[in-house]
Amino acid sequence: MNSFTKYVKRYWRSTKSLWVGLRTSMKVFLRKKVTEEYPENRHTTLHIPERHRAMLEMVHEADNHHHCIACGLCQMACPNGTIRVVSEMKEDAEGKKKRVLVRYEYDLGSCVFCQLCVNACPHDAIRFTNEFENAVFEREKLHLVLNREGSTLAPPAEKKTNPVKA
Ligand code: SF4
Ligand code: SF4
Repeated sequence: MNSFTKYVKRYWRSTKSLWVGLRTSMKVFLRKKVTEEYPENRHTTLHIPERHRAMLEMVHEADNHHHCIACGLCQMACPNGTIRVVSEMKEDAEGKKKRVLVRYEYDLGSCVFCQLCVNACPHDAIRFTNEFENAVFEREKLHLVLNREGSTLAPPAEKKTNPVKA
C-alpha cells in the first residue's frame, strides 16, 4: 500500500469518526432536558418520587396517637444500630403490665435506608418520608426522636386515618 492510499484511508476514518461524534452531540442537544434547577424549583417543578426513602418517621394520628408497641423488632432488624427503642413496663387500668414506648431514637446519619425496619414492624408504626432536605452542620442534629412529645399508643380499635407526619 503506497503512502497516498494510506493517507486517504486515514482521512476517511477520521472524517467518519468526526461525524459519529457530531451526530451524538446533536442527538443529545435536541433531547428533552431533564436538568432540575434546584433549589430554585423547590416549590415549583421539583419532583421527588413518593417512594424515595429520605428519612424514617413514626406515623402519628391527628389525636397524637402512634402505633408503636415497643416490641423492638425494628431495632433487631436494623443492620447498623440506627434505631434504639427505649421502653418501660407500666400497669394498665386492669392491673396488667404492658410495655410502653418512652423514646424512639433514630440516627439519620447512620441510616442506610434499607427499609428492613419498616418491613419488620408488625403494626405499620414507622414509614419512610421522601423529605430529603436534611443537611445539618452538626452531626448530633441527625440524632432524632421520632415519637412526638405526649403521644400515646392508639387504642386497639383505632384505625389509621389521615396519619400526620411526626
Ligand atoms: S432503613 Fe435500614 S439502616 Fe435505616 S433504620 Fe431502618 S433498618 Fe436501620
Ligand atoms: S416501630 Fe414497629 S417494630 Fe419498631 S418497636 Fe414499634 S411496633 Fe415494634
